[in-house]
Amino acid sequence: MKKRILAMGIRFLAVVFPLAVAWGQETVTVPRVLVGYPDLIVHNAKIVTMDDPSLQATTGRIVQAMAARQGKILALGTNAEILGLAGPETRRIDLKGRTVIPGMINTHSHMHDHSIRRWTRANQDKILEVQRAFSVTGKDYAELKRGIELVVKEQMARARPGQWAYIELPNGGNAGTGIGVKFLNDKGITHEELNQWAPSTPVFLNSHPAWLLNKSAQTSFLNLYGVDWSEENVDKALTMNTTIRRSLVVDRYFAPRIGEMADLIKDGLEHQAALGLTSFSSHIVGLRIQDAYMKLVRDGQMPIRFGFAQRFCQQVEPDMAGCFMRLGDTAGLGNDYFWNVGVTLGGIDTGPPNICTSMDAAPEYKSKEKCILVPGSEYEKAVAAALRSYERYVVNHVYGDKAMDTFMDTVERVVETTPGITLDYIRSRRLTADHCGFYPRKEQLARIKRLGMVISCDPMFLDRSYPWLKVYGEDKANRIGPNRTMLDAGIMVTAEAEVDVESGTGPTYFAHQIHFLNRKNSRGEPVAPEEAVDRVTLMKMMTTWPSYYLMKEKELGSLQPGKFADFVVLNKDYFAVAEADIPSIFPLLTVLGGKTIVLRKELADEWGTPPVGPQINFEFATKFTAEGGGE
Ligand SMILES: [Zn+2]
Repeated sequence: MKKRILAMGIRFLAVVFPLAVAWGQETVTVPRVLVGYPDLIVHNAKIVTMDDPSLQATTGRIVQAMAARQGKILALGTNAEILGLAGPETRRIDLKGRTVIPGMINTHSHMHDHSIRRWTRANQDKILEVQRAFSVTGKDYAELKRGIELVVKEQMARARPGQWAYIELPNGGNAGTGIGVKFLNDKGITHEELNQWAPSTPVFLNSHPAWLLNKSAQTSFLNLYGVDWSEENVDKALTMNTTIRRSLVVDRYFAPRIGEMADLIKDGLEHQAALGLTSFSSHIVGLRIQDAYMKLVRDGQMPIRFGFAQRFCQQVEPDMAGCFMRLGDTAGLGNDYFWNVGVTLGGIDTGPPNICTSMDAAPEYKSKEKCILVPGSEYEKAVAAALRSYERYVVNHVYGDKAMDTFMDTVERVVETTPGITLDYIRSRRLTADHCGFYPRKEQLARIKRLGMVISCDPMFLDRSYPWLKVYGEDKANRIGPNRTMLDAGIMVTAEAEVDVESGTGPTYFAHQIHFLNRKNSRGEPVAPEEAVDRVTLMKMMTTWPSYYLMKEKELGSLQPGKFADFVVLNKDYFAVAEADIPSIFPLLTVLGGKTIVLRKELADEWGTPPVGPQINFEFATKFTAEGGGE
């Protein structure tokens, strides 16, 4: 009998406290390695577990203390209960009443891109074999065109073989309202003209979401991935621009320097840990990025966890549908630090004015609309092939509501026509869509819920979409991140941020997300105030629910026995401070799998130990720093 209790004690220590006594008595005869002493106990804290996954505004259990062992949570309870579990080598941390939350999860951020872009900017001299970067501005189309001509004909006159001219035109601070976007959309310069000016130098004109390549650039890009140039292959690489922006430096300069790239990425991830994030999800663009992550995994160096969407079937693949068909179901493959969450084509539209939307607009804008998931298109065939091959489809980027219609049409068509693919099966895969740029509209809610989708929203779109209300109508503000409406309709919503931390400075994660509480953008303009959520709901959007998006709700998202010991100690009580104080909340300590990733000097001084990890100089202003947003 005693033996049985002992075995149960070890296995179920976390839930059956009284057994700890019987168990303690056995330490003489049981080797210590078999005894489940915690290696870490935090106590005297306000530990908000967020262990209630319902769509209600509830925090779940709040406890004083927590014990962890070998990277996982063992038990939660009162100070007395948990301290009673301590063994001779247990590290005890007295948090003096501070608030602890689960490590936060960002459901859309390709932070490796930020790291590489920042490095590229600072190291132009090192990547001359790959590209030279230029910025051309002008007050009208003629000036822009003249500037481009000067770069292509004079600056690039003695270009090295294979060296690209990467030319940025004004895009209006990521909003797509700049003159460069209009210039390219209105064909202020044509593909043929670029070919004449630069017959052998690759030229990339970028003004997101608009772009233009000459034939030399198309050829160079396709050849890099072993694909021959043809009109058809160019057409199929529909979003070549976003791939080029993210992969030229990665797949050319860093290909023989994986270790160097891994160090860069690690540094960026540590900065995210300093924001309080312990997991994130997004796509990978730039094939060798995966190798850098795998190196970090092998070396035990991942500062946070990454559930990545597989995108290689889209980047340059002339047969996307076939690629997905051969790939099969990979969601869940990987390890605790780097695992696959499904497959993706990246975006299913781009940004205004090119979004796929049911919203009406003046003809000059409506004519720019691009829907890519139309029946019979390469993209539609590819999504259908992925679903029919039992893949979990992750829509990384959607801006307009009609793009969501076309996606859901595709899913339903596959369910209707494919034996073995049922609605219940689709629901179990939790298909996702990100950003909430201008969707969903009210009529889509029931369908999103019926398909069991999880929706990830970024408050940055309160900024990015706002100027476009003038084009699509002020009454469309309630389509920008309508979190309240989605939750009321029974749809699980998560918070994302394509936020970057530049050179050790930047806003806190809370400064980014507070816009979902106050529904004001960073210019202070109200955006559908009725869509505001309360702070507990926002915390669930940042912790509990994202674990479902990442298909790891048994391991992540809340503080419960058996889950990873990923947690954050905050400088202030998020649940009690005045709303105006929320942007100034940041982590003093970020722990991943029981291991300290970031320890702020403020707390380190109190403990008399050295600080650990990046010490970000936080700016509490609620402004958005993210670039990209392209996908
Ligand atoms: Zn993105």
